[in-house]
Amino acid sequence: MAEHESPEFGKADFVLLDNVSMEEFMANLKLRFEKSRIYSYIGEVVVSVNPYRAMNIYGRDTIEQYKGRELYERPPHLFAIADAAYKAMKRRNKDTCIVISGESGAGKTEASKYIMQYIAAITNPNQRAEVERVKNMLLKSNCVLEAFGNAKTNRNDNSSRFGKYMDINFDFKGDPIGGHINNYLLEKSRVIFQQEGERSFHSFYQSAINDGADFKAVADAMKVIGFTPEEIQTVYKILATILHLGNLKFGCDGDVTLIENTKVVTVLGDLLSTKEENVTKALLYRTVSTGRDVIDKQHTDQEAGYGRDALAKAIYERLFCWIVGRINDVIEVKNYDARVHGKNTVIGVLDIYGFEIFQNNSFEQFCINYCNEKLQQLFIQLVLKQEQEEYQREGIPWKHIDYFNNQVIVDLVEQQHKGIFAVLDEACMNVGKVTDEMFLQALNNKLGKHAHYTSRKVYTHTHALYQHSSRPLSCSCACVFRYSVLGFIDKNKDTLFQDFKRLLYNSSNPVLRSMWPEGKLGITEVTKRPLTAATLFKNSMISLVENLSCKEPYYVRCIKPNDVKSPLLFERERCRHQVEYLGLLENVRVRRAGFANRQTYPRFLQRYKMISQFTWPNHDLPSDREAVKRLLQGCGFEHDAAYGKTKVFIRTPRTIFSLEELRVEM
Ligand code: ATP
Ligand code: MG
Repeated sequence: MAEHESPEFGKADFVLLDNVSMEEFMANLKLRFEKSRIYSYIGEVVVSVNPYRAMNIYGRDTIEQYKGRELYERPPHLFAIADAAYKAMKRRNKDTCIVISGESGAGKTEASKYIMQYIAAITNPNQRAEVERVKNMLLKSNCVLEAFGNAKTNRNDNSSRFGKYMDINFDFKGDPIGGHINNYLLEKSRVIFQQEGERSFHSFYQSAINDGADFKAVADAMKVIGFTPEEIQTVYKILATILHLGNLKFGCDGDVTLIENTKVVTVLGDLLSTKEENVTKALLYRTVSTGRDVIDKQHTDQEAGYGRDALAKAIYERLFCWIVGRINDVIEVKNYDARVHGKNTVIGVLDIYGFEIFQNNSFEQFCINYCNEKLQQLFIQLVLKQEQEEYQREGIPWKHIDYFNNQVIVDLVEQQHKGIFAVLDEACMNVGKVTDEMFLQALNNKLGKHAHYTSRKVYTHTHALYQHSSRPLSCSCACVFRYSVLGFIDKNKDTLFQDFKRLLYNSSNPVLRSMWPEGKLGITEVTKRPLTAATLFKNSMISLVENLSCKEPYYVRCIKPNDVKSPLLFERERCRHQVEYLGLLENVRVRRAGFANRQTYPRFLQRYKMISQFTWPNHDLPSDREAVKRLLQGCGFEHDAAYGKTKVFIRTPRTIFSLEELRVEM
């Protein structure tokens, strides 16, 4: 029998708390963590606390315990949510998604891997070769993506520096037949700069520095996925290019800008399969069109340095996107004819950066937090909408629940013409030198009166801050996020001189060339500005949310117990803060206002009919609905249930747990 509620292990579902208060919530979370119960529920949401040690709860035997079972039949686990998503997909033909959130080091990526493992383990009972191939590809792709997209940071030794959404497609039998990966906002600045104690992406150390064993695993995975030897070689050449670019120094002699260590340029020419003089020219000049004339304009040494860094960042980002694209080529669903086989259904898994609130927050944090505001908005919308719709369908009265609608924050950021992104883009469009200060001024002019916007100057003119206050999912206090506008303009413009694009496109290495198709354009043909980083991000978020909102969502909320990776330490204040901005308390309230559990009448009887003399072994009542009523009356639970058209609704999980106990006692 699962321990749903005990003095020793606390309450498995926060909905069972006697009082919904932060005090009680935290006490329960702490107790469970200390008793190695790292998973709990809020209804169907899994709350997970990173154990920071190997747990013996992911093996084959555990998988068997969760396979095909209902959520409340077993102790809380990721496998239960994975199974619920899988069942919804298979039994009801629904597309589902699992959204995993939490801050860096909270355990999102590990959770996504366990979910994938679970799905791999419970599918393809007939060992079909093609399905096995697809499963193998999906699992192997993780290894490659982590090598190129993860890095050691001060918060997490294996931190994902990109957001990832992966669709797994299933055929009518419920077996995986393919997938698709979307990646979001790679932190490419990491290739040129890392905080003290941090590293660049793992890939650099596997190729050039150390981490030999990992190198082999990644190289093998790339081979299995189908990267050609030529492609793999190009990947390593690009990594080497970035390392060499880092050594490149510029200086000046009078008016002339120079490269101080020209030997590096020779190496770069070699790596990029292009002439040395082409590299020199692209590094020192930019070709500009002035209406009729095309002239070569020399960079200052500062501009040249900026160009070098932009190049390093851009080729890494392009490489990463190319790798994702290559993986997608291999895993995408092929030869599936819906007319013959029926609809192919999808489970999506989203492993994306959670709210980031640091001492000093910049453009990256702004984008990441905007993404989280959007996901919170979706969460509350879907949870409430889903509930409301089901009650309506079933004819159960529904009491409206008040909640903070953070659409106002989302609008503040993304609204056309008026939002912060729009003001930023407008500032970036201006000709001439636009400073971050000017951007801040424009923000103040446009948004100065907005209830959720204020700005403040902090000690020097270059260090202006503005803040937007936000109440994620209506947590009891308003969280104020502050950002420094320093660097917003450059990061948003994200300029890579056209000369570099042409340089790379004209490489004699066909793989490299294929990554830079826009280098084909002549100098006078480039008229359109590339989209800004903010616009690209905003568009990708809008389509992500559209995609998620047409799926049935399941949630995993990850919590990081401490900053020292200790399996023993539960830092109360730190955890409380996460519970607050994840809006978990609110989540409990919403859940308690509704019904914890619902099942169709036949399903309910199938599971519990042995409890009552009226229903065992069969009932002679006019309907299953009547039989369920009778059964619940017999146990004294009728006050806790409502009877819909096809389903019985049970208000508190305690009733379900009691039924489970009665069932076991029979
Ligand atoms: P980021 O946002 O930085 O990518 P994350 O939320 O993806 O962070 P993970 O990389 O999943 O965090 O987890 C960080 C580390 O915590 C793991 O490398 C592992 O050591 C430990 N960890 C997380 N989850 C578990 C688990 N279920 N069991 C054991 N250890 C875990
Ligand atoms: Mg991660």
